[in-house]
This record gives sequence, C-alpha cells and structure tokens, in this order.
Amino acid sequence: MSWDDAFWVGLRETPAMSRTRAALPIVEDDATLRSLLEAAEVPPLLAAVAYATGDRSILRNEFVPDPNAILDPNGGLSPQAQAEARDLAAAALGRYRDAGCPPPATPSHDDLRPLLEFVVGGSAEDDYLPLFEEELGIAGEDLRAPGWRKEELAPDRPFRVVVIGAGMSGLLAAHRLGQAGIPYVVLEKDEDVGGTWLENSYPGCRVDVSNHFYSYSFAQRDDWPQHFSTRDVLLDYFRRCADEFGVRDHIRFRTEVTRATWDEDRQVWVLQVRGPEGEETLEANAIVSAVGQLNRPSFPDIPGRDTFAGPSFHSARWDHGVDLAGKRVAVIGTGASAVQFVPPIADEAAEVLVFQRTPPWLLPTPDYHDDVSEEQMWLFRHVPGYASWYRFWLFWRNCEGLLPLVTVDPDWEPKDESVSAGNEMVRQMLLGYLQAEFGDHPELLEAVTPHYPPAAKRVIRDNGIWARTLTRDDVSLITEAITEITPAGVRTADGVEHAVDVIIYGTGFQASKFLTPMEVVGRGGVELHEHWKGDARAYLGITVPGYPNLFCLYGPNTNIVINGSIIYFSECEVRYVLDALRLLLEGGYGSLDPKPEVHDAYNERIDAGNLTRAWGVSTVNSWYRNETGRSAQNWPFSLLEYWQQTRRVNPDDYVLR
Ligand code: NAP
Repeated sequence: MSWDDAFWVGLRETPAMSRTRAALPIVEDDATLRSLLEAAEVPPLLAAVAYATGDRSILRNEFVPDPNAILDPNGGLSPQAQAEARDLAAAALGRYRDAGCPPPATPSHDDLRPLLEFVVGGSAEDDYLPLFEEELGIAGEDLRAPGWRKEELAPDRPFRVVVIGAGMSGLLAAHRLGQAGIPYVVLEKDEDVGGTWLENSYPGCRVDVSNHFYSYSFAQRDDWPQHFSTRDVLLDYFRRCADEFGVRDHIRFRTEVTRATWDEDRQVWVLQVRGPEGEETLEANAIVSAVGQLNRPSFPDIPGRDTFAGPSFHSARWDHGVDLAGKRVAVIGTGASAVQFVPPIADEAAEVLVFQRTPPWLLPTPDYHDDVSEEQMWLFRHVPGYASWYRFWLFWRNCEGLLPLVTVDPDWEPKDESVSAGNEMVRQMLLGYLQAEFGDHPELLEAVTPHYPPAAKRVIRDNGIWARTLTRDDVSLITEAITEITPAGVRTADGVEHAVDVIIYGTGFQASKFLTPMEVVGRGGVELHEHWKGDARAYLGITVPGYPNLFCLYGPNTNIVINGSIIYFSECEVRYVLDALRLLLEGGYGSLDPKPEVHDAYNERIDAGNLTRAWGVSTVNSWYRNETGRSAQNWPFSLLEYWQQTRRVNPDDYVLR
C-alpha cells in the first residue's frame, strides 16, 4: 500500500456540512401558532424569538431561568409565567410571519451577549461568552474547523497521518485532516464505521445524552426521530457523516494496528498492520489514536466461567444467533448497558435472572423513549434559531450547570452517601423517584437503593421501565454475590445454584487499559503500557512525553460523568491535534512531545481536581478508577476549562525537534 494509493486523501476540500438549515416560513394562523408553542421549552424559545425578530423586550427579568432549577426544561418558571412568555413569543412570531419571515441578520457579539446571559440566568462569567458563541453556532459557521491548509504552510513537505479507528472521534479527525489538506488514512478493525454504535447491537441500545447535543456541532439534524435515539439511528448518522465528510473511501476496514514504533532518526512512526491481505508496514509522521475507551469487553474473574455448558456472551458482542425465546437467562451486571437490554429480553425470554452487585442511581427522564413530537419538529424547522438555542440550552442545563451538584464540600460529613448539600438535594430527589417507582415492593426498593453519592458512578436514565421490568413475575433481581459459574448456571454465596440456559455479561469494559492491545513503542524503545504501568496519564488526555506525534482522542482523564457529551470533548481534542500539526508544519519541526514537567504538573492538578468530585472521593465500585485506585478516566473540571486549554497549543508546553 503506497501513499499515492486512493486511500490517502488530503489534496481536496471535504464537503462542508451546513450547521443549521434555513428556517422554513411560518404560515400558521395565530391560534395554531400559539398552540405549537406549547411544545417549546421557554428559555430557548424566548432567545430564539428575540434573535429572529430583534425584539429583546421579550427577555423580561421574570422569565430568566432560575439557576437552582437547572433540571427543569422550563427553567423553573411557574405555569403562569410560561403561558405569558409563550403568548408574547406567539405575538412576536405572528408579526415576523406577517412581515414575510425575513431572515434574521447575523448577530454581532454585542447582540448575542444579552441573549446568552438570559438563557444561562446571568450566571456565567465573561470567560464563557466565546465558548457559548461557538457552541451556539447561530450564524451557521463551523467555528472549530482548521482555518488553514497544509499547502499554505508546507507545500513541499511530505507529511502523512494515520488515524486509528473510524468511530465518532476517528471520523471527526479524518474530516478535519481533510479540511486542512493533510494526507491521511484511517485504519479500522471493524468492517464499517461507527465504533461503539457499530459494536453495541444489543436490544434496547440507545444514546443516553440527548442527541440534539450528542452530535457534531457542525453537522446538526433537525429531524432526530427521538430525543435519545436508538443505536440504529445513531449508526446511520455516523455512516451518513462518513459519506458527507468524504472520508469513507479513505478508510481501510478490517485492518488492525498491532504495533507502532517511533523511529527517532527519521522522525516517523512505523506501524505494523494486520488486514484482510495479511501483515504489512506503514509509515506516518503522526498517529491519531481514536480507539475509544469503552470497546474491549471486560469479563468478570468468576471461577468456573469457562465451564458453563450453554451459550454465553458479552453485551457489546451480542450473539444474535442465540434465540432467547422460552429460555432462562442470567444477566450479570446492572450498569448502563444491562439496564437497557434487560427490558427487551424480558419480553422474549421465559425468565430473566438479573445479578446485581451495586445498584445504579436512576435519573427520571420521562421522554427517554419518546418520539420528538410533530410540534417540536415544527419548532426546530420554522422558528429561526430555535434548534441552535435548544441545543445550547441542553448544553447548559444538562452539562455545565450540573457540576456544582457533584462537588465535594470539605466540611460535609459523612461523605459516604452524599458529598455536599447540593449533592444531598439530588440524592433526596433520586430517592423520591425510587420510592415512587418501587414503593409498592419494599424488598425490591431496599435492593435497588444505592448507598453511595449520586455521580460516584454513572447515573442511569429511566422512564419507569426499570421498575416495570424488575417487578415482572418472570424477572428476578438477585443480590447475593456470585461465587461460581457452573456448567448449569450461576452459584451465589448462599449456596444456591441458579440453573440457566444462557448467560449474558453486562459487565462493562477494560476502560483503563487505554490503547490496548496495540503495542506502542516510543523514544528509547519503551512500550507505552510498560511506561504507564497500569496507570495511564497524558497531557490534556492527548499527548505523552516520550511518544512524539502520538495524539490520543478520548484518552486518559477525558471522560465526563455528568457534565457533557463525549462529542464535545472530541471536538476540542481534534482542534488541538490539528493545531499541533500546524505547529509542526509551520515551524518545520519533525516532532513534538510534552515536557515531562508540564505533563506531571497537569496530572497532579487533575488528580487533585478529581478528589473534589463525588466520583473521586467515593470508594464504590466503578470503571472510573484504574487498578491503582486513581481516577484515570474522568475530567474533573468544567467544559469551559477543557475548551480553553485545547483551543491552541502552547509551544512552551512542548519539546519541539
Ligand atoms: P459498567 O457500567 O462497567 O457496568 C458493569 C456492571 O457489571 C456493573 O453493574 C458491575 O457491578 C457488574 N459487574 C462487573 N463485574 C462483576 C462481577 N464480577 N460480579 C458481579 N457483577 C459484576 O458497564 P456498562 O453497563 O457496559 O457501561 C459502561 C459505560 O458505557 C457506561 O458507564 C456509559 O458511560 C457507557 N454506556 C453508555 C450507554 C448509552 O449512552 N446509552 C449505554 C451503555 C453504556 P458494580 O457496579 O458492582 O461494579
């Protein structure tokens, strides 16, 4: 495979995807218009109307969302205030309709400021405004695209990048490399794009971050069928993005990188690759690892696991050849995956035995399985800017605004069930939900009640389906510890052998074994995993001292527990990677890797930061900690901070050669 092969792209523009579609005209009469606005969330509606009509008088003080009602889609407004706000919005949109629906003027920074301040309840400092503007993308621009091309910086320099993985972050990296005119190839072990959305085909799989936010900022859809779409819809989105970005032809499928070795003299990575045609060697100036964190299944170390006589499989490698109809099925685990697949398989199997070690907290989400209503779809398409403001409102109230509620108060004691007054308030709310859902089944209620702070583990969305499933006659929740897997089933600590036909492992992933099983040999011949010794660290989660021109996406300490969508993080990371490549090309450097002291100081700060959050102080089981007990997965700070730190590469942080 040569670099001139058709797989390599970079010398042409990738097609731009429009960020927002122009609004369709409003033709509805006043009464219809007013009734359609019932489906709107008031804070983004008022901001959109002020933007569309230029009438800021609608942004009245009494309609400013209450920062303490951050979980309420209507910002804590009373029903009366909501009705009044919708009346005013309907009147303003009626005037806009009567004027012929003129396209809104592109707002200046000064125009946007009061609108943004209104939506966040005046609670954000000035630092936030540039991020908000970028997130909002009201003018339809892709503000995170590289504003340069290789031929302007280093036209004659051969420079090639290998991206490993064609999931969400790999496709994004490929798109940006194409926009910058840098030749690249994507190597993907699977037979198609999509990463996690390809591999997780279990029944009931869907996204648990609203997909109006869990989507590329520059490739928005106004026709998501559901608020939290199913796996097939998400997979289709990423497939379509691969086509629209023009990257699919430059992906080599069923091709795995087994080893990458840095050649210091030649300043290149030499990659050993295993593909459909066997082993081969490739060279690249830089590697972007987009292999994800949650893709290598973790099987529990339970004695006798290999002795089970029937079929068994992991949720992320669902065996669709196993017919569950009429079977007795054991499910091990009650994490985000199991809570999604147990309800549909309970409809199919004769009996389901759910083995729970630690109960998850459930977050009430009434619209979790709901379609986006026709009225909401109408709003996205007809009210100029509503889709952007809606996405921004999700960003604010579901993400950034939640961080204070999981922050440790050093004086709060004891910290085993909550870590602060705000966290205790959330706990009480979640306990109330469990009481409402399981109150008629006291033993079950006790079994599903967590005894650790909310956000110490992943909080799981629920619309009532978990209680409906666990209270079925043909579903049992077993909380006795598993001691053994036998040929016939699962034995628990009370000595009972639960005979089953099938075992399904919903036991998660080897999240802290970043970049495995690939071997990555850096400067001085040191293999990355030997260097990490089970405790992966990187600067900004992206770069590692001694591993020049190696860039990780979704690397160490870039997972977010409550405040965000991983796509946001990938967009920040990829922007940073492109800026690092710009630095290499512009400065004529062969390589960069972070200064050890910069990397170490950064990681000390991360560790201290994680100890200020619920997941950092709690000792409950979770994939958020590695074998050393350190929180090697999570980003402890605000989304703003990650955005600020990854906006530009600071050359002083790096050894440039
Ligand atoms: P997980 O959260 O790691 O859950 C694994 C489950 O298996 C836990 O209940 C765990 O119990 C249990 N388990 C592990 N080893 C066990 C053993 N030896 N004996 C008994 N039980 C055992 O894995 P996951 O559910 O696959 O989710 C992983 C992450 O993927 C999520 O946190 C989320 O970030 C992501 N995810 C997202 C979605 C979505 O967006 N919709 C869906 C699925 C997953 P303990 O709790 O006691 O450890």
